[in-house]
Amino acid sequence: MKLPDVSDADGGLVVNETFGPTFQGEGPSTGRYAHFIRLFGCHLSCAWCDSPHTHDTRYDLDAEQRVLSIEDILSWLAADPADLLVITGGEPLLQAHLLGRLLCAIRERALATEIEIETSGTIAPTNMITSAVKRFNVSPKLAHSGLRRHQRIRPTVLRDFAEGGKAIWKFVVQELADLAEIQELADTYGLHPVWIMPEGTDSTTVLARMRMLADPVLARRWRLSTRLHTLLWENDRGR
Ligand code: SF4
Repeated sequence: MKLPDVSDADGGLVVNETFGPTFQGEGPSTGRYAHFIRLFGCHLSCAWCDSPHTHDTRYDLDAEQRVLSIEDILSWLAADPADLLVITGGEPLLQAHLLGRLLCAIRERALATEIEIETSGTIAPTNMITSAVKRFNVSPKLAHSGLRRHQRIRPTVLRDFAEGGKAIWKFVVQELADLAEIQELADTYGLHPVWIMPEGTDSTTVLARMRMLADPVLARRWRLSTRLHTLLWENDRGR
C-alpha cells in the first residue's frame, strides 16, 4: 500500500473533512456538543479501521483530501465557535508542526472552549500542541489490528504521554480476551485511566459488545465507552 505523505503539504493542513455541530461519540466527552476536524493520512493500517478513507488506497484519496490554510480553518470555526473541538484522523500528529500553529491560533482567538486530540499513541506531540489541548485520547492498537507490535506500541511515546498528564487511554476491543492484553500494556507503561470501547461500525455490534464487556470492565475498575454516533446514526459520514 502506498502511504500518502502529509508531512510537507505546501501552505496548509491536509484535511479529510470538517463537520459539526454534532456529539462527541466516544470517551470522556461523550455527548458533548462538538465540532470535528478530521485530518488526512495515517501511517498505520488497522484491519478494522473505521476511517479508511483517510489513507487507504482502495479509496479515491484525491477526492478525500484538500489542503486548507490555517486561516481557512479559523474562518470555518469563527462562523460557529466550538465548545469542544475534536482533532481526529487518520493520525493527526503526522501533521504536528502545522497542527500546533493552528491550535495556538484557535486558543488565541477563543474559537474553542476545549480541544482534544484522538491519536494512536505512536507519534509524540510537540510542546505547542500539548499546551493547547485539554486532553489526548490515546488509542494504542491491540494485536487484532493486524499490526506488528513494534508498529503499534512505541514505548517511549506511550511513556511520554503517560507522564504528560493529559492522556486517557481508549482501547478498541473485540473480544473479552483483549482485556488481558490491555492489562499488560497498562501495567508495563503506567497507562491510566483505561477506557474500553467496543469495536464496531453498526449499532447492533456496538451494543452487543458493550453488554459483553460491562461486567468484566467493572471488575477491573476500568471505564466503558460507547460509540454514541454509531448508536444514533450507524456509519454515516460527517456525524
Ligand atoms: S490508527 Fe486509526 S486511522 Fe490509522 S489505520 Fe488505525 S484506526 Fe485507522
